[in-house]
Amino acid sequence: MTTFKAIVINKTDGGQAVQLTGFDERDLMDGDVTVRVDYSTVNYKDGLAITGKAPVVRRFPMIAGVDLAGTVVSSTHPAWRPGDNVILNGWGLGETHLGAYAETARVKGDWLVRLPAGISAREAMAIGTAGYTAMLAIMALERAGIEPKRDPLVVTGAAGGVGSVAVALLAKLGYSVIASTGRPQEADYLKGLGASEIIARNELTGPVRPLGKERWAGGIDAVGSTTLANVLAMTRYGGAVAACGLAGGMDLPATVAPFILRGVSLLGIDSVMCPLPLREQAWQRLARDLDRSKIAAMVSEIGLDDVIAAGRRIVEGQVRGRIVVKIG
Ligand code: NDP
Repeated sequence: MTTFKAIVINKTDGGQAVQLTGFDERDLMDGDVTVRVDYSTVNYKDGLAITGKAPVVRRFPMIAGVDLAGTVVSSTHPAWRPGDNVILNGWGLGETHLGAYAETARVKGDWLVRLPAGISAREAMAIGTAGYTAMLAIMALERAGIEPKRDPLVVTGAAGGVGSVAVALLAKLGYSVIASTGRPQEADYLKGLGASEIIARNELTGPVRPLGKERWAGGIDAVGSTTLANVLAMTRYGGAVAACGLAGGMDLPATVAPFILRGVSLLGIDSVMCPLPLREQAWQRLARDLDRSKIAAMVSEIGLDDVIAAGRRIVEGQVRGRIVVKIG
């Protein structure tokens, strides 16, 4: 019997129990590629899964962790050979398929993206689903005609994972970035990532008017709810907002006024089932457009034994930037 270390979530009478424990390799799920996991990361969704605050996990027992960077150990998939360096984001990893907080994963070869040249496994997980989602949001804004000009873009939840990478990417691409945060003490951090202006979270959590003063050409929203409704109401004519998160709530108490009177577009971003060609493009863009020194500024590193505590902290909004988990 071969066992490896993993963060395992089990169902209990009162809810769920999560622990770092040994996992029998024979209990891995079907897949045509076996991967040695080198690094993972802690995203907001991982925090929801670990704490059980939202029904992320849909099979028990589950190994948590929605992201991995690793090395192929064995493969019957035509695209992958032992020694290949790969990334996996989403596709149900850590939700319906045994996940990334483990020394070994068995997955579908069709889910894997080749680690882009110039990015290390650690950097890939410092970016993680949060950063790859930020890139998907930027690509959606570009498709909607948004380009670096004088008008700023707003990023909400800016000191979090999606927000931090979005600020760094947009600044490098030449945008003027307004960062919205509930943590004024992170102003210097956000300016270091490239934000040109910091606004308080509560400027966007007040009552929503159908239309407000036009403040930005668009933005990337990781918060949802009243925040997203206010961002839309303050978007200038013809602008676009990419919505990817719900850290402030799942609802959207908005009116249609920004859409029908200002031609504003609301762009939905999903990283989990995103088609492979778009993923590959996003990772190539991340390799090109993300300043490495900014990754270093936003990342902290933990081991598997600290993941459960980190999962709790991220849902409380206490994590700055990105956490990588060293596994291999
Ligand atoms: P983080 O926890 O790292 O960042 C979220 C940030 O949102 C916090 O840092 C905080 O930023 C802000 N925030 C937290 N709570 C509240 C609140 N109650 N009201 C307003 N702002 C709040 O999470 P991630 O960056 O990993 O994920 C961000 C969101 O994006 C999550 O909802 C996540 O589920 C979603 N997501 C969606 C994906 C997709 O495929 N659509 C993929 C990845 C993430 P600050 O302190 O600066 O205000």
